[in-house]
Parts: sequence; structure tokens; C-alpha cells
Amino acid sequence: MFLFQNMPVSSYDWWFRAGFVYPSCLAFALIAIFVFGSCWGSFINVCIWRMPRRESVVSAPSHCTVCGTDIRWYDNLPVVSYLVLRGRCRACHAPYSCRYFVVEVVMGLLFCAFFVKAGLTNQVPGVLASGWIMLLFAMAAGWIDAGHRIIPDALTYPAMFLGLVCAGVLPEVWGTAKWYRAVLLALASGLIPGLFLAVFAIVGEKLAGREVLGWGDVKFITATGMLLGLPGALFTLFAGSLSGSVGGTVCALRRRRSLRHTAIAFGPFLAASAVLWLFVGNLICR
Ligand SMILES: [Zn+2]
Repeated sequence: MFLFQNMPVSSYDWWFRAGFVYPSCLAFALIAIFVFGSCWGSFINVCIWRMPRRESVVSAPSHCTVCGTDIRWYDNLPVVSYLVLRGRCRACHAPYSCRYFVVEVVMGLLFCAFFVKAGLTNQVPGVLASGWIMLLFAMAAGWIDAGHRIIPDALTYPAMFLGLVCAGVLPEVWGTAKWYRAVLLALASGLIPGLFLAVFAIVGEKLAGREVLGWGDVKFITATGMLLGLPGALFTLFAGSLSGSVGGTVCALRRRRSLRHTAIAFGPFLAASAVLWLFVGNLICR
């Protein structure tokens, strides 16, 4: 069935034709992509701090969360500024969380890694757009859920919207030349697992008398389906549930509490599974 088909292989060898087989050309591309990815990582850092606090991520300029001083553009360069200022505010010298540095570096590296993986497995180049968006979305959702036990709507709704936009603009990623076919496939890929989980969440809560699955997790899977396709959403759900159960059991044992009373954030496990799918998905399912 078409819906269960994975992202297709490119019909021409774009990695070779664009010259990425030459080390100097590849090195230049990787440096540019690392800078690009770490800039988006910098934006994700803003989302991680502001979204759970219900602050706008676009209106206010970046400022020190301790003294409130606006951060100048030259102190806001991803990766570099953190190293130059040794992770401190220029005005009040308050130390910043190493999260800023880690997220920027990891986003840069993941952007590069996915570019190389897509090239070497000859995936359709358009998959870079939805793949990179998925990486950003997973990083933000995982980190916010780990810290605040929520996956904000401000994150999941834009991810769904961007998934549908990517499908419409780059329908070849969905194995079709028609934009409306791709959008319909993306919609179905998100809504099928999303509705299934919504029913599970409602029935589970009635039976167990407590929340068994957060709505943020339901929306996360819906957005994942719209970005990665149905096989990706199902894998994310399966691998996320499995690793989450193992993580929850380990957590309960370490705290010496019963499993029933141990609640862990599901988001980081789902996010890690979605990232894993980006790298192994088209190797295990075609
Ligand atoms: Zn400051």
C-alpha cells in the first residue's frame, strides 16, 4: 500500500553530480551546513527556554535571563560566542547553562550527519527539508518535555503545518509528482496514528482513572507522521514506547518506588526514536 511505502530513492545520483565525492567540496558543504544547523540550534534554545514559560519566541530580542541586558549580535553567534565569553553573560558575568552550547553543537552535527546519510543512501534531496525540521522539532520537544513534562502546542502545531508545506512544495519526497497527493498522504500519515492514540488516551484515562498518555505525545506522533510518513510515525511510537518502558522501569528501580507511582516524560524517548528513524528508516523499510 502506498501509505506504508517509505521515502523513495532518488532517480539520479545527486551526491555525485553535485561533486560531494570530492573531499574539498564535501568539506566546504559540511562547514556551511554545520553553521546553518547551529544557527537553528540557537533558535531552538530560545524555544526551549521561552515556550514552557509562554513567552513569544520572535517578538522580544535575546536577553540575559539574569540581568535582562539585551545580547548584542556579536555575543549571539552560535557556538563561537559561548566559547569566547566562556559561557558567561558579558554584562553581569552570570554563568549560562551549558545547554546553549550543547544544543548548538549537536544540531550542527546532526544536520551534517543527516546530509551525508541522505547523500550516501541516495535519498531524494528534498528529504533534507523535512528531515532537518524533524531534527529541530525532536530536539525542542524532547528537551522541553524532560524539563517541564509538556510538549507545547506552540511546537507541535507549527511542526504539523511545516510537514504539510514540505509535502506540498516537495511532493517527490512522498513518491509522487502531484502536490495534493503528497499533502493528502502527509495528512493521512499524521492523522491515522494520531487518532488511534487519541482514542487510546481517552479510553485509557477512563479505565485507569488517571492520565495514561499526554495530549502532547499524541500531537507529537501526529506531527512526526506528517514529516516522516506513516512508517516513521509507527516506528517512533513503537521504539519510543519500548525505550520509555525500559527507562521507566530503571527509574522506578533506582528510586525504589513502584512502577505505578513513577511517571517519566515520554517525549525524550519519542524524540530520540524519531531521530533514529531518520538515520535507519530507509535501511529497515523500503
Ligand atoms: Zn546578564
